[in-house]
Amino acid sequence: MMPRRFRQPTSGRRSREGRSPVSFSWSSVLVRQSLAATLLAAAGTANAQGSRTPLAPGLTVITNVHVIPMTDRAVIRDAAVLVRNGRVERVGPARQVGVPNGARVIDGKGGYLIPGLSDMHTHLYADQYIPDTVGRAEVGVMLANGITTARLMIGTPAQLALRRDIEAGRVLGPNLWTASPHLSGRPDTNARVVRTPDEGRAAVRELGPAGYDFIKITNFVPPDAYEAVMDEANKGGFRVDGHINAGVSVARAAALGQHQQHLDGWFEEILADSVTTRASLTQYGVYDLKRWPSLEAIDERKIAPLAGRVARSKVFVTPTLVLFNTYFAIDASEEAARRLPDWELIPSKFRGAVVKAMANYWSPANLAVRTPERRARYMELRNRIVKALADSGANLVAGSDAPDFMMAMGYPLHRELEALVKAGLSPWQVLSMATRNPADFLGASTEWGTIAPGRRADFVLLAGNPLDDIRHTTRIEATSIGGRWLARAELDAHVEAARRAINPSPD
Ligand SMILES: [Zn+2]
Repeated sequence: MMPRRFRQPTSGRRSREGRSPVSFSWSSVLVRQSLAATLLAAAGTANAQGSRTPLAPGLTVITNVHVIPMTDRAVIRDAAVLVRNGRVERVGPARQVGVPNGARVIDGKGGYLIPGLSDMHTHLYADQYIPDTVGRAEVGVMLANGITTARLMIGTPAQLALRRDIEAGRVLGPNLWTASPHLSGRPDTNARVVRTPDEGRAAVRELGPAGYDFIKITNFVPPDAYEAVMDEANKGGFRVDGHINAGVSVARAAALGQHQQHLDGWFEEILADSVTTRASLTQYGVYDLKRWPSLEAIDERKIAPLAGRVARSKVFVTPTLVLFNTYFAIDASEEAARRLPDWELIPSKFRGAVVKAMANYWSPANLAVRTPERRARYMELRNRIVKALADSGANLVAGSDAPDFMMAMGYPLHRELEALVKAGLSPWQVLSMATRNPADFLGASTEWGTIAPGRRADFVLLAGNPLDDIRHTTRIEATSIGGRWLARAELDAHVEAARRAINPSPD
């Protein structure tokens, strides 16, 4: 399972700092692969439309709310929203919307209604750490966090089945988008190994039409194989999203149309011309103590021009700030993790291993190199890159990369929004990154991402105005998914069910 996300990579399957937290069974992989063949054959029917959950029948008016439609910068005060059969029919000042006979009335209690949130980079524990069947409980936690659209960034056939179950109403969950198994230059869980151009083309030809929403690329793919992947994907009209591989520049990936995760490649590309090394802190670079001094060789004047190139390419960037800021720069202690609502949703056997790996990263000896000043600089640069991208008009979306490290699913998206505001973006820009921008990205703008007539009734009711303080996105009173209204008590029940499913016998 090693380098699926950001644990330290090695040439083998085990690392020094990040030992594999869960025992790994090849037999379970083989079972999944034969299941994969069966499910792939059935995946051609996958829904490519923007609406991926059932729409609730009936007529509902949500009254006594302020609506933040995200169509423009307006807030409609003392508003109402009329929902018919799961779609918005009218939205505006309450006296104009009215209450039709027979409509169910929901009192918004003076709260703020925003479009449902999107997490554009998430996973499920159920994709490798715990049984697939737990995935249906995990998506409930997303809804409890106001997430009505989620993009699962490493796909499995079981996730295609979950997506179909949600579409058919057999499971209550958000609109799901699902990546393919990831293209990686090394064997890994749910990976498709790509080491040569021929392997790259074959992988795209097979995975592109297999029902996944896009092709995911992670690490260790050689540049010539990468070029072949992008060529084949562009010919076939398949989106590619993911990491920037070593030897591939941010600018080159953008020029080829690859959507980008984690600000990969940036630290290397903004090193001063005067230094000979091109090794810096992107990705696994953070684990390499020798690379930390490279922060002193960054040439900040290179940030804005590169941001401009990325913006002009129109690719979408998911910065995943909070993951890096927290676990590699701020505080990854067990005490900090225990303070989060995430803790009880992390599989117990996984917690201890992550705590141990993080304790090593944060050991006094390592902190002698990863000094507070350097860690602050690391974070400051990541923030500056995001701000430069925003100032250049780049396409930005919000993604948490949960669950990983001490993050369970759902909750970290809100911390990501907060981190983006700290990076200098306005709350409106940040809220756009979790509502309208993802809809643009996924071609679903006529379905969700804003509150307007004809759109799905995917909303979150908040107890405070997130444009005043982005942290108000955590104060969730209710989530509406396709017009199905889930009040706080029901959302809490979903979280509790997930706790029990993830840790059936808590220790
Ligand atoms: Zn990820």
